[in-house]
Amino acid sequence: MSKSELPERVDAYKMADQSSQLEGVIAFGRMKRLSELVVEDGADFEAQLQFERDEEKRRLVSGSVSGSVALECQRCLQPVQYDLQSHFRLGIVYNDEMARALPGDLEPLMLLPDQSLDLADMIEEELLLSLPMYAAHEPGDCQIQTEFKPDDQDESPATEKDNPFKVLESLKRS
Ligand SMILES: [Zn+2]
Repeated sequence: MSKSELPERVDAYKMADQSSQLEGVIAFGRMKRLSELVVEDGADFEAQLQFERDEEKRRLVSGSVSGSVALECQRCLQPVQYDLQSHFRLGIVYNDEMARALPGDLEPLMLLPDQSLDLADMIEEELLLSLPMYAAHEPGDCQIQTEFKPDDQDESPATEKDNPFKVLESLKRS
């Protein structure tokens, strides 16, 4: 089952009034800020969105988005793959007063009634918030090399006896 690309912009006010749902993919290339933080272009993200009005007549957008990105490992500088998943609940507001009046479980989404909502921008914002503070491989999975050669990426990792990090480790333990 192939999912269709989410539209660029939607009328979020109208969609909330009509309790509309959207489900689809969002191409990685539509998220420029995220693109600058990754080391390889990622695949599409999948998103589900629900627009509605709550019992207080507030307009809400809730949903989830998931996908994976390759970030640079802060230890070995090689790509490390992260699965990102974000669940969000946003209250649509058009001034600070409305934003302040939102209950604690709702994040404000600032949007004027005559403004259309840029879906990629909203989803990207949520994804940026779900990025790890510190990207790194699991301990032991780093591809730390003592000397860097450009075409030995497929070689097996250094054996124990000539790996200086192992030697250090055993010194620390004794
Ligand atoms: Zn690493």
